Amino acid sequence: MKAPKFSYTRGESLDQVLTLLNEYGEEGRILAGGQSLMPTLNMRLSNPKILIDINHLSELNSISLKADIVSIGALSRHSEVGRSPIVETHLPLIADAIPHVAHIAIRNRGTFGGSVALADPAAELPACVLALGGTVVLKSVRGIRKILAEDYFLGLYETERKPDELLIEVQIPVQDPTALSAFVELSQRKGDYAIAGLAFIGTSKKQLIETAKLVYFGSEIKPTLAKKTMAILINSRWDDNTRELISETLGQDLDPMTNLQGSAKMKLHLQKVLTNRAIDLALKKEKTSR
Ligand code: FAD
Repeated sequence: MKAPKFSYTRGESLDQVLTLLNEYGEEGRILAGGQSLMPTLNMRLSNPKILIDINHLSELNSISLKADIVSIGALSRHSEVGRSPIVETHLPLIADAIPHVAHIAIRNRGTFGGSVALADPAAELPACVLALGGTVVLKSVRGIRKILAEDYFLGLYETERKPDELLIEVQIPVQDPTALSAFVELSQRKGDYAIAGLAFIGTSKKQLIETAKLVYFGSEIKPTLAKKTMAILINSRWDDNTRELISETLGQDLDPMTNLQGSAKMKLHLQKVLTNRAIDLALKKEKTSR
């Protein structure tokens, strides 16, 4: 199919883009990597009056480290994030997740900001941002708003971002160097959107879990913290008893969607399998690092 008619403006400055967003609101759409937007236009799932292209705003394309916070500019391409030494050293969870995001051609165009702005329930990066306690930075003609990831993702493709706001960067605290993280997902083919997935970050001492954060994606309508399961893991040994307990509580934390990729029951089962895999993987890192 062909896209409906729309106007196009190449944004030449941040101020100009914010003025246009203020003017058009719901009827304007930011064009970043275009990897999700263009297919939705071609399928006529979206009908904006104007596309506002931010690809020439070089100030949005940077990855920096300052006072233990990594700032990832909205226009950083997935492949740039994957190659960044700052990300590799300070955000290994994200470095592990990037190869799971689509295929290489899509990673070369798709942007970190586009993924967090869109909030696809099966996307890897929103789950990582939530697991790492990141903050989403939004800018409009009204000023800047900083929103914790926990308050940002509201529902299915629904976020706290208002139509006149541009996501300019995501700020993420560096991972505790003693923390153990693991990123796992299941998809039909490598590069496809996840059917079920999990970002795990925690700390352990002699295989006793001290802290644990579990964020599930793919099965849920939004990246979801499994708070009851996390509470069980803390101060537990990773043994058969704990495995059994979390298998029960996960059903209370998660509410999987039934869709073309599978039933809610199957997805809950997959998330249980992935939880075991992720924690096994993370604790193996503790054994090999000592
Ligand atoms: P765009 O397509 O340009 O924009 C997406 C939406 O976000 C639009 O509504 C746009 O207006 C808005 N937007 C973009 N940037 C901003 C901003 N800075 N501020 C405010 N609003 C903004 N993604 C995954 O995570 N995992 C996958 O496995 C995966 N598989 C894919 C497979 C295929 C075949 C395709 C085509 C895409 C896939 N994607 C996947 C999507 C890809 O990662 C996109 O890059 C990402 O979803 C959106 O980034 P983008 O820069 O392309 O955004």
